[in-house]
Amino acid sequence: MSNITTKGQIIKGKPVADKISENLIKEVNDLSKEGIIPKLAIVRVGARPDDLAYERGALKRCQTIGIETEVIELEENITQEEYIKAVHKLNEDEKVNGILTFRPLPKHLNEDVIKYEIDPNKDIDCFNPINISKILENDKSGYPPCTPTAVVEILKYYDVDLSGANIVVLGRSMVVGKPVSMLLLNENATVTICHSRTKNLPEITSNADILVAAVGKANMVKEEYIKDGAIVIDVGINVDDQGNLCGDVDTNNVLDKVSMITPVPGGVGSVTTSILASHVVKACKLQNNK
Ligand code: NAP
Repeated sequence: MSNITTKGQIIKGKPVADKISENLIKEVNDLSKEGIIPKLAIVRVGARPDDLAYERGALKRCQTIGIETEVIELEENITQEEYIKAVHKLNEDEKVNGILTFRPLPKHLNEDVIKYEIDPNKDIDCFNPINISKILENDKSGYPPCTPTAVVEILKYYDVDLSGANIVVLGRSMVVGKPVSMLLLNENATVTICHSRTKNLPEITSNADILVAAVGKANMVKEEYIKDGAIVIDVGINVDDQGNLCGDVDTNNVLDKVSMITPVPGGVGSVTTSILASHVVKACKLQNNK
């Protein structure tokens, strides 16, 4: 564990994102000397506000780093066949190194079929099950999803020793809970996964050295869920009764008890586009035998 003894430290995502970006700028610069420019393609169906907000952040981040981008905007009523055709075109495009497909897809498109169609070597946000299995196998050649990776990177940046740490993950979704649990296990933590059927939740979470909350319930985690001096990573992005953005953790209620906690907004969410960019650069290097 970290030897930080102060209480209530808010650990922001920005310095983590900035450090990742700084390193990527150097890597992209080196690649450019050999005439190689990494490229990200984003596939978006329709124009959901959440997707557009994430897209703006991703495009800006890539631009800062020197990664080329292309957005493929598809009609809301696109057929499954046409969607797959668009993905195949990007798979075959040698200039494109990474593909981000916004999900969930509209209901008439079958994700369970489509997820196998994206080239796993370009699947920089872990849609294809091959990349999910690489997390289980601790095979570093794959691309774990960006948000769970951001959680691990934040903990590492703030010098938290994960080896042997008792970590409780709240949530078991394929988007956050399960992959982050496996990534933390791969860092030699002892991981407990909780979900909506878990009994005596506060009893379990209040034993955690590190608590990762990914439940999607505004301010659910209160003081009684927290061990004295725990580190809390709040992945949740919710809107509270007053219409304000908030996490899964009631920060004001737990601040005196935690040693460190990520804010919402400004925490995990602000690191994800840097991870996305790092996956594009990694894919570019692997595809160019670098
Ligand atoms: P999700 O698919 O709805 O999964 C929520 C998980 O929490 C489920 O496993 C569910 O259990 C569990 N859960 C729900 N209520 C619970 C309760 N009262 N007690 C214990 N467990 C409970 O959500 P998600 O996609 O994982 O996202 C979780 C949160 O992270 C959301 O707020 C989302 O907006 C946010 N998020 C943030 C980022 C970011 O970049 N920061 C990215 C992705 C998601 P069951 O499995 O039993 O139903």
